[in-house]
Amino acid sequence: MKDKRLYTPSYLKELLQRFGFRFTKSLGQNFLIDGNIVRGIVDNSGIDGTSKVLEIGPGVGTLTEELAIKAEKVLSVEIDKSLEEILDETLKDYDNSKIYFGDILKVDLEKIVKEELDGGPIKVVANLPYYITTPILGRLLEEDLNFESITVMVQKEVAERIIAKPGSKNYSALSVFIDYYTVPEIIIEVPKTVFMPQPNVDSAVVKLDIKKEKPSGDRDKFFKVVKQSFAMRRKTLLNCLSKGDFEMTKDEIKEELEKIGINPGIRAEQLGVPEFLKIAEVIN
Ligand code: SAM
Repeated sequence: MKDKRLYTPSYLKELLQRFGFRFTKSLGQNFLIDGNIVRGIVDNSGIDGTSKVLEIGPGVGTLTEELAIKAEKVLSVEIDKSLEEILDETLKDYDNSKIYFGDILKVDLEKIVKEELDGGPIKVVANLPYYITTPILGRLLEEDLNFESITVMVQKEVAERIIAKPGSKNYSALSVFIDYYTVPEIIIEVPKTVFMPQPNVDSAVVKLDIKKEKPSGDRDKFFKVVKQSFAMRRKTLLNCLSKGDFEMTKDEIKEELEKIGINPGIRAEQLGVPEFLKIAEVIN
């Protein structure tokens, strides 16, 4: 049994060959071949026998199997139909695991989460396809779907932006977005050698604990302000905001920023969620 685990490189190779599977690079298909990392992701995701898990991109089912062993139910969304026969075999012993074929960015998440995971609460666990990391996180966080936490493998560079604090080198609009919705943490640093095929970049597993209370105020306006503030990195906050699609003139924006005690001459990377919330309240 031991060498028949999906993360065992020789077994994985044999399986892929037997089914004539070919990797599609453009789908971010880099499968895990290290049992310690697979267990590390699952153990750190806070899953127990009562957990309902949404997985994105099961591949051949390596992480899925470990999740199915620990959780009550696992629903995995996979875009690549050519993995169907393999998954039928690798997950045949797990009645609590179901695969839904579709694009995670397009499927009716609300419906499938309701039907397959009893509406949650849901823990998301995944080794993400890197080409759509940000859109996936965007979708998961913006739709209010009773998610408790999101534990995902991402590129190391993205993980650093996710956890970055104001004033630091990696701080960006993504950091603000993540901080608005979650409390993020890097839980495992992952070398590129644990994947087949090996990607060009190192990775990290991040855990995002979803905040129960979201900041109050106009969320769309908040993110419009954040996006515009980071639109031109070298420009001052005032310059960025005055080039945005707001009704106020540059002078009016300057006046409003000064009134709320924010220096119009600083750069967006100095500001955190509370400051952007204040700006969103006064700018129009
Ligand atoms: N979970 C497996 C593992 O850890 O070995 C595979 C992870 S691999 C990095 C990413 C997986 O996401 C692939 O199986 C790929 O086909 C799938 N995928 C890519 N784009 C997707 C999309 N838009 N929706 C759902 N799955 C997608």
